[in-house]
Amino acid sequence: MSKILKVRARQIFDSRGNPTIEAEVFTKNKSASAICPSGASTGTYEAFEKRDKNNKRYLGKSVLNAVNLINTKISKKLKGQIVHNQERIDTLLINLDGTRQKTKLGANAILAVSMAAKKLSAKVKNLPLYKTFLVKNNFKLPYPLMNIINGGAHANNGLRIQEFMIRPDRAKSFSDAMRISFLVIKNLSKLLKKKKLSTSVGDEGGFAPMISKNYQALDLIVSAIKKSGFTNGKDISICLDVAANELYKKKKYSIHSKSYISVDKSINEYKKIVKKYKIKSIEDPFAENDWISWNKLMKNFNKVQIVGDDLYVTNLERLKKGFLNLSSNAILIKLNQIGTVSETLDVIKFAQIIGFKTIISHRSGDTEDTFIADLAVGTNSNQIKTGSLARSERVAKYNQLLRIEEELGKKARMNKIH
Ligand code: PEP
Ligand code: MG
Repeated sequence: MSKILKVRARQIFDSRGNPTIEAEVFTKNKSASAICPSGASTGTYEAFEKRDKNNKRYLGKSVLNAVNLINTKISKKLKGQIVHNQERIDTLLINLDGTRQKTKLGANAILAVSMAAKKLSAKVKNLPLYKTFLVKNNFKLPYPLMNIINGGAHANNGLRIQEFMIRPDRAKSFSDAMRISFLVIKNLSKLLKKKKLSTSVGDEGGFAPMISKNYQALDLIVSAIKKSGFTNGKDISICLDVAANELYKKKKYSIHSKSYISVDKSINEYKKIVKKYKIKSIEDPFAENDWISWNKLMKNFNKVQIVGDDLYVTNLERLKKGFLNLSSNAILIKLNQIGTVSETLDVIKFAQIIGFKTIISHRSGDTEDTFIADLAVGTNSNQIKTGSLARSERVAKYNQLLRIEEELGKKARMNKIH
């Protein structure tokens, strides 16, 4: 009864309107489906996203070949496997592909199947998905990192930094975290209107006003926090994703303006804004191969969370290198950067053993799939980054966390930030 009968896939669309893969895994009586997300500011070392480059009908973006591979090769390989044996399923997928970056089948094909199998296993066991990962009891809810002003590759406003986020550090519960974030977002909207700036949103649901200076965005957020009756740096922390891969040229960075400056000058600028705006977390402050600069920055801060996203690409080998190099103290986790649920869990386990904070993340091109909300709770991850309170593909994850909190009832606890 819990043996896989077949796997089916279809091409559907993500939040940016790009084709993506939905895979559905079947046992005799049940089925479950999952959808693969897609990034815009991607790291070079991410697992491969397979698209039909030569298919002009979809401007080279369709995923029909990957869909076909699921319906044929993958379905054949997984037929008869016990759906609860996630590691075996993922190993079979990895070996069937046989390449380092999953270029043959595509990590998008592999991940959609891997997540669908995981969901189906939970369904067959009649368990909520979050109860089927690493944690068996004492579940903790993650703090939301809400990306409330979008820039970089996620908007066309000219803001150098990609994500300006808020984290409600003193929230007592997940619903309280949502209420606090909601108030700040509504006040930010009012402020933008008052300043005759646009309240339209970017790819991750944060506002994308036509401003181009980082400090303008930071000043607006500080004002919105104040207007909401909260104290910046205490009740709420400002957190950034610089996505510096996009701002790197010949050992220099254009993080703070369009002109490129040295690493030392960039570090000084970071120090200034951390102090002025009480920033508590910086993701991807430097580029993916610039290990030395990451280490330099770490030596300058002892209380700031430094997060590796493009640096680690949810890859165990790169995380080990970063640990030895003292590159960061936190890791962003994106399932499609590595391509299977099992490999993702291995990275989370290792990160937690070495004392890194784990932050589960969406992609800028995302979907209605709420897998990452359950993953965050089921791995006791400290934080979740899944956009602002706008665009249903973002809000869906927050809503799923509210449902989980309700289900846990009195047992629900927030994770620890510090
Ligand atoms: C990020 O850089 O953290 C992010 C979510 O964006 P993308 O999905 O474009 O990589
Ligand atoms: Mg990032």
